[in-house]
Amino acid sequence: MISKILSIVFPIRYQHGRLRFARKSKPLVYIFLILFTVLTFNTIYYSINFKPTREKCEDAENHNFLTMDQAKKESFKHLVSLKTISSAEGKRLDDAEFKKLRTFLESRYSSLFHDPRVEVIWFENFTVLFHIRPKTSSDQKPVLILAHTDVVPADASQWDTEPFTPTEKSSFLYGRGTMDDKSSVFAHFEALDFILRHDKSFYPKRDIFFGFGSDEESGGIESGAGGANLIKDHILKTHDRLDFVWDEGGAVIRDMILPGPVAFIGLCEKTYLDVGVRIDSHGGHSSMSSLQENVILKVSKFLTKLESEIEYVTPNYFMQGLEKTLLEKLVAHSPYWKRIILSNLWLFGSLVKRDFMSKPETAAVLRTSMSFTILNSGFKENVNPQSAEANINFRVHPKDTPLKIMERLRVIADKMDFHVNLHNKTSLSNPYENIEGCHFDENHFGFKTLENYITMIYNTNKEDIVIMPNLCPGNTDSKGV
Ligand SMILES: [Zn+2]
Repeated sequence: MISKILSIVFPIRYQHGRLRFARKSKPLVYIFLILFTVLTFNTIYYSINFKPTREKCEDAENHNFLTMDQAKKESFKHLVSLKTISSAEGKRLDDAEFKKLRTFLESRYSSLFHDPRVEVIWFENFTVLFHIRPKTSSDQKPVLILAHTDVVPADASQWDTEPFTPTEKSSFLYGRGTMDDKSSVFAHFEALDFILRHDKSFYPKRDIFFGFGSDEESGGIESGAGGANLIKDHILKTHDRLDFVWDEGGAVIRDMILPGPVAFIGLCEKTYLDVGVRIDSHGGHSSMSSLQENVILKVSKFLTKLESEIEYVTPNYFMQGLEKTLLEKLVAHSPYWKRIILSNLWLFGSLVKRDFMSKPETAAVLRTSMSFTILNSGFKENVNPQSAEANINFRVHPKDTPLKIMERLRVIADKMDFHVNLHNKTSLSNPYENIEGCHFDENHFGFKTLENYITMIYNTNKEDIVIMPNLCPGNTDSKGV
């Protein structure tokens, strides 16, 4: 019996109380041994080489100011309570609220606004840039730290708490903008104010800019005239280019992807594209109609065709983006059986890809996402509509470009046996210019510094934080700077 079971799995026989290889099956044994060796080698290699270094802040007192005392908490709450809303139409909803925010910042951080080491530049009243120069000129390229003070509107009926009345519940603070992006605004102001007040001899080693836009949620850099554009144009007057930009786009998430905290650092963004689809006909009374000519049916046929050709319109780029680094970093933190899989993607890649594609949030990392968001046609129950229109929204993967997506849509449209009008509603320009895909250097000073500080702040005696590079699904001002 034992012999039979073994011979199914391995070419081994149990005879006379001893294990023996089946003579004819020796090549299989060698293949198994080679496979076992490769899998084990890769697992050990990735577990060791991608193991994070454990660092802690040596001088904890120096970052004690990060503690959220009552005064800081009240200030942050006040910041969140201001209704600095950017409307969907691309405008500030109420300038008086932005004025209040400016007054609050100038009063709480009055020493920062009057520090001789800081040049303060206001653009159109509500966007502000701080420029801190080194004591002697430096050949290092400058850096820019960005955040935005505006927020998106909030429908109070969809909230458990009042969106503009910051409310504490179970050690969390709820309110519009607590995450996006007033927490960054507050942190940058506090840190800058602290260092300048406590160290009168402080000068940076290179030019540092802190920029606070007031229209990121209504187009910002993409509008071509937003606060981030004014910041960019101002910096470019005196500097050729920046070394790096730190902006919003990541988060520390606990007990989701791994037990314990994981810091996601957004390193690339998807591009936004809206495409209009329009089909026309001569219309007429519904009593004398042919379904073949029905524009609603034609639009739905076209959209159904896109669904069936999704692999062509939005191909997936497994292991060509940031997921490669993410999976490598996961190895050292995974249980042993998972380490074998993640270290040997040459063998198990299709399994991992299938897992990614099974959930919309992870599938979005591998491909351009496509969504049918608006459908318009018809105005009377008994009249055939003369036209039908749909909107397709794309979040374009860095390996794709809006232009490539448009070209693929035209190929599909040409396959239909009726005419489909396609037009791009948003720009076809590629913010990454001639760069194909998402590239980043893990050893770049900007990334390393951020990684070190996150590690110092979050590592404790009990647990280590894991740093994960991430593809940012939304858009930020940093893209065009
Ligand atoms: Zn934001």
